[in-house]
Amino acid sequence: MPPSKKLTPSPNNMNLFQVYPLFDVEPVKAKGHYVYDAEGQKYLDFYGGHAVISIGHSHPHYVDRINAQLNDIGFYSNSVPIGIQQELAKKLGQISGYGDWNLFLCNSGAEANENALKVASAYNVRKKILAFKGAFHGRTSLAVAVTDNPNIVFPVNEGTEVLRFAFNDFEGVEKALKQEDISSVIIEGIQGVGGIESPSAEFFKHLRTLCDDTGTVLILDEVQSGFGRTGKFFAHQHFDIEPDIISMAKGMGNGFPVGGVLIHPKFEASIGMLGTTFGGNHLACAASLAVLEVLEQEGLMKNADKLGGYLKEELAKLPKVKEVRGFGLMIGAEFEEPVVEWRKEVLYKHHIFTGSSSNKNVLRLLPPLGIGKEECDQLIQALKEVIK
Ligand code: PLP
Repeated sequence: MPPSKKLTPSPNNMNLFQVYPLFDVEPVKAKGHYVYDAEGQKYLDFYGGHAVISIGHSHPHYVDRINAQLNDIGFYSNSVPIGIQQELAKKLGQISGYGDWNLFLCNSGAEANENALKVASAYNVRKKILAFKGAFHGRTSLAVAVTDNPNIVFPVNEGTEVLRFAFNDFEGVEKALKQEDISSVIIEGIQGVGGIESPSAEFFKHLRTLCDDTGTVLILDEVQSGFGRTGKFFAHQHFDIEPDIISMAKGMGNGFPVGGVLIHPKFEASIGMLGTTFGGNHLACAASLAVLEVLEQEGLMKNADKLGGYLKEELAKLPKVKEVRGFGLMIGAEFEEPVVEWRKEVLYKHHIFTGSSSNKNVLRLLPPLGIGKEECDQLIQALKEVIK
């Protein structure tokens, strides 16, 4: 036997693997539509922690429901029945209008898309995927392959056959799908990272028809645009189409990591086909149920629709604005020049968080869904002062 090597203790200088560009503000407390730094400075949240905060920070019902669940049971694996998963599925079916579909629970948006693409491929036994320019679907293997950003794709992620088209390229998409060798089409309800962009309703309808005619699965990525953010439960409901599979995350847990895949009943499940250790754990289900209950009790989708309309009107009156896009409280205001310096001033001088996108001229707004008129006015006033 070789002599065992003695481990020499290393100095304890562990640091974080630095991959995120950071704002120079650290929220240490949050309540409703605001976050607070250690000095007690209050910041209005028009970014929602990247579209995650749907019902408001630390909503009392959300806190109580998660606490109560933790006092009962916080976790057991998917090797036993977990009743609260069924409770979540039932509530989700009732609110979303997809009551006769099935639900697979996971932990993030990328994982939801990964599983959606797998279910599609298992169904039609095809490999290729059709995706769109400007798309963002996550960073895991298949999700990053269908994302339109070569900077985050590494050699191990290469190999998935992806055909990419621009929105409203009716002819190109039709020609590709008619080959009848594409497994699925994946498309965001509204492109978020891409700058709040969506194709025409006619294009969505055309995709639906083509997928039906060619045995292709239509996957709607509602990770950012779902869970009431756009004033309807899912953004695709604005376009009057029904997909085959829907992926969700972000607003689903209001900050608790939870994702899900809604699956049309034509797809058959088999034991062992999909799986995850943490997906659908008791706490995640309690968090998501609390979100749905508050969405319903406080009429938040209606508020998103109303206040989103107001905010869009006011944004359109700002100087240097080119176009204001989006539905409900998923809004993109495109300006004639980059917004990066204005966003900094809005944050550091006016204490308001806002979002950006891959289009440098687009200001992305994703506030909690209960945001009020006065808070919208506060943002508009700040923008008036910084846009010179
Ligand atoms: N899909 C869309 C449309 C997204 O906006 C995102 C994240 O921004 C993802 C998928 C990936 O979600 P996650 O970061 O939870 O993996």
